[in-house]
Amino acid sequence: MAYIKIDADRCKGCYFCIKFCPKQLIIVSDTHNKVGYFPAQFLQEKEDQCTGCKTCALMCPDTAIEVFK
Ligand code: SF4
Ligand code: SF4
Repeated sequence: MAYIKIDADRCKGCYFCIKFCPKQLIIVSDTHNKVGYFPAQFLQEKEDQCTGCKTCALMCPDTAIEVFK
């Protein structure tokens, strides 16, 4: 199955990935990163639903998301 890794310290909190993930597998973290943004967070417990479509990574303006298949 596919999964993603989000580099929390690169994330600027635009939340495009959250908006566009067709499976709603990304949420806002409740812990801020080193520059003060609340980064996007992958719902690891729902990893089996990730299709590896890469939509999240393609939408990310900060190239903070890597997709693994
Ligand atoms: S698209 Fe990128 S910068 Fe925007 S919230 Fe998601 S991981 Fe963060
Ligand atoms: S690869 Fe696709 S399904 Fe998986 S988290 Fe990203 S947008 Fe969602």
